[in-house]
Amino acid sequence: MKCAFDEMMLSQYLEKDLDAETMERITGHIRECPLCRKEVERLKTAVRIIRSLEEVAPPRNYLESVGGNLKKSSAPNSED
Ligand SMILES: [Zn+2]
Repeated sequence: MKCAFDEMMLSQYLEKDLDAETMERITGHIRECPLCRKEVERLKTAVRIIRSLEEVAPPRNYLESVGGNLKKSSAPNSED
């Protein structure tokens, strides 16, 4: 049996990047189709990994504040 929804469609579904009618059709299909359910789970895991990588990347001002602290703590002790 061939599914009407491919990986591209399912990833758009996860991103909620589809119109409401298609979203509903896929939701209904996933309930009935273990193959697509499995694929959605796989994509969900991939998305979670990508998201967590994005969260780990520190924002620019964080880097700047760390840089500032480093500069302060590693300042040469010229008055010694
Ligand atoms: Zn399917």
